[in-house]
Amino acid sequence: TVYTPSSNRYDRMAYNRCGQSGLKLPALSLGFWHNFGDITPYEHMKQLVFTAFDNGITHFDLANNYGPEPGAAERNCGRLIKQYLSAHRDELIISTKAGYEMWQGPYGDWGSRKYLLASLDQSLERLGLDYVDIFYHHRPDPETPLEETMGALAQAVNSGKALYVGLSNYDGPTMERAAAILKELHVPFVINQNRLNIFDRKPIDNGLLDSAENLGKGVITFSPLAQGLLTNRYLNGVPEDSRIKADGRFLHSDALTPERLEQIRALNDLAAERGQTLAEMSVAWLLHHPAVTTVLIGASKPQQILDNIGALKNTSFSDEELRRIDEIALG
Ligand code: NDP
Repeated sequence: TVYTPSSNRYDRMAYNRCGQSGLKLPALSLGFWHNFGDITPYEHMKQLVFTAFDNGITHFDLANNYGPEPGAAERNCGRLIKQYLSAHRDELIISTKAGYEMWQGPYGDWGSRKYLLASLDQSLERLGLDYVDIFYHHRPDPETPLEETMGALAQAVNSGKALYVGLSNYDGPTMERAAAILKELHVPFVINQNRLNIFDRKPIDNGLLDSAENLGKGVITFSPLAQGLLTNRYLNGVPEDSRIKADGRFLHSDALTPERLEQIRALNDLAAERGQTLAEMSVAWLLHHPAVTTVLIGASKPQQILDNIGALKNTSFSDEELRRIDEIALG
């Protein structure tokens, strides 16, 4: 089959400048952490990717270890690009990362130059690409000198294998130290990737969001829906096709405490008052933060992508609404 993307796809999405860089990213980006491994039918992934691209989502986020098995998401993404999107490569931002365990032994994890550069080569091979648009260090490594890790990112760019670099899961002060090194090396470090959602405010608490804004760096927020908790998914029990039941690697039923469910219900009611679903309000809440460039959603169904894009219809909040969200979520 031939894929012809929707001709008005760019009218359906907003594009935000990534910090003070030249790069613009869609307000919503699609993540490949779940639903792109070898346990998901290829046909299913194809529909997710088509729905995303047809609606202006030009940014796909991967990592070396996304699967299962590790590497499978990159391989499947590569196959999809080759088969359907090769004519549109220059309309796509493809991101990948290294930093978590990828292969056995001392060179397949953390932040050494040895690991990062070998991993990027492997990622390009699996993706079938000459370069990725963004290459991230996936998590800070307390044992490797920051100069070494940043030097490896610089080489990734200088060798033409990555256009931009990003840092993921860094806190504010560590990111600032890394940014200073990257600046000295003239590396286009443009983006931070961190978990931020109504329930989890870590990058606000550790200064990352403020540091990013001050330095003119973009922010992409992952698990915006707390893996599905911040939606209507679990309001009436745990559905068979939900992440908790179908792929409980990282989300377990014990996350659904009675207290959590009560918070979810209260947030769901507040969203309804705003004329939104809880998923829409959760995405909108992220986009109302000036530091946030793009919200990195996951989706197991094409309809979820469409639903989440609905958030763009209203991303403003009254002070009273923000206060009530904090009161419900933080107690
Ligand atoms: P979300 O919080 O958006 O959770 C996505 C899941 O929520 C979906 O798979 C689906 O689960 C459910 N869902 C999504 N939309 C809706 C909706 N409208 N209504 C009901 N349920 C919905 O994000 P993820 O946790 O998946 O993370 C997103 C991306 O962030 C990842 O793919 C990855 O790219 C990145 N990431 C980065 C990390 C890092 O360390 N840098 C760590 C983790 C993620 P269901 O299966 O129940 O349908």
